[in-house]
Amino acid sequence: MSEISVASGWQHILAEAVEEASRLPPEWCFEITHAETVDGALRLSATYVSGDIPLDDHLPPERKMPHPWRSMMRIRENAKQQSLVTCECCGREGRLVGVGDEARVRCGRHEYVVDVAEWEEKRASMRTMFETEEGAVEHFRQDYGKGVDMMRDLQTAVEQDSGEPDPTSKH
Ligand SMILES: [Zn+2]
Repeated sequence: MSEISVASGWQHILAEAVEEASRLPPEWCFEITHAETVDGALRLSATYVSGDIPLDDHLPPERKMPHPWRSMMRIRENAKQQSLVTCECCGREGRLVGVGDEARVRCGRHEYVVDVAEWEEKRASMRTMFETEEGAVEHFRQDYGKGVDMMRDLQTAVEQDSGEPDPTSKH
């Protein structure tokens, strides 16, 4: 598969499209090659080999031969329809907001996000920060845990020495 990427909320739409493409006849060499956002919706492009399969659009549906172009249009349309109701940021139910260059599909929480790439970058750097913090907390817990063990050992030692069950009651 080519290097194509979509925002987090649309990953599963792309994955589904890729999955559907993988079930097409192998001789079509069908490959989703491009994903972009057009008028707020996901637009997929694909390459394929149609060879000499006629595009028999004049025939009734039941006599039509499977054609990679039609598969492409179907996959593209499915992805587009799904993307129109899926928040590009989080994958929750969304709707089309904004117009023109700012047209985008968002849930209520992410309506303010105009540039999803920028938003993801910010979120990723925040996540790194949190991970670092969590790491620090974990170290602290380990050190503190050792301290607790040491205290417990000390307490046990004192108890054994004095025969006094509670060393604090001596004072
Ligand atoms: Zn959202």
